[in-house]
Amino acid sequence: MEVRINKSKLELVEGDITRQDTEAIVNAANSRLAGGGGVDGAIHRAGGPQIMAECKKIGGCPTGEAVITSGGRLKAKYVIHAVGPVYRDGRHGEPELLAGAYKYSLKLASENKIKSIAFPSISTGAYGYPIRNAAEIALSTVINYLNSHPEIELARFVLFSADAYVLYETVLKELTKA
Ligand code: ADP
Repeated sequence: MEVRINKSKLELVEGDITRQDTEAIVNAANSRLAGGGGVDGAIHRAGGPQIMAECKKIGGCPTGEAVITSGGRLKAKYVIHAVGPVYRDGRHGEPELLAGAYKYSLKLASENKIKSIAFPSISTGAYGYPIRNAAEIALSTVINYLNSHPEIELARFVLFSADAYVLYETVLKELTKA
């Protein structure tokens, strides 16, 4: 599915984020930038050791924020490592922290003149964020940003399963009345 938000394109696809041809891909990182399973492991495996070397130099990233490295051997020139919250009960700042992870990623994209960016569904794997709530936050945060930042020409969500894709599609339709 694809919609236009102001001057930008917002896309949903089902697939593997490591294979995207956007200028930047976003990693669902942990605050130590230590690598791990899920999308984080897949990005480091596909991108090679250069990315981890840069992460080690940076040292860490607070939850709700993001840092940027090169893309190593990936097609993407950059990896933006965003740290989403571990979900507890939704009353420990999780919504704001999840929105922050997306906002910081987009801010880094703008600052680095990145025009196309691909996101995974941050925090909805090992970090346990209920996916419907996470999709609402993810999509509304990105839509808000695109509305005032036409320099981002393409924002793409790459969903790893058909179920996640359908869920994001349902929420995007609700948010845009598409
Ligand atoms: P978190 O710790 O932030 O929850 P995970 O990597 O465990 O991060 O999961 C985040 C989401 O990324 C999950 O929905 C998972 O299905 C998805 N995912 C895992 N591998 C990939 C991949 N290669 N491309 C895109 N999404 C992926």
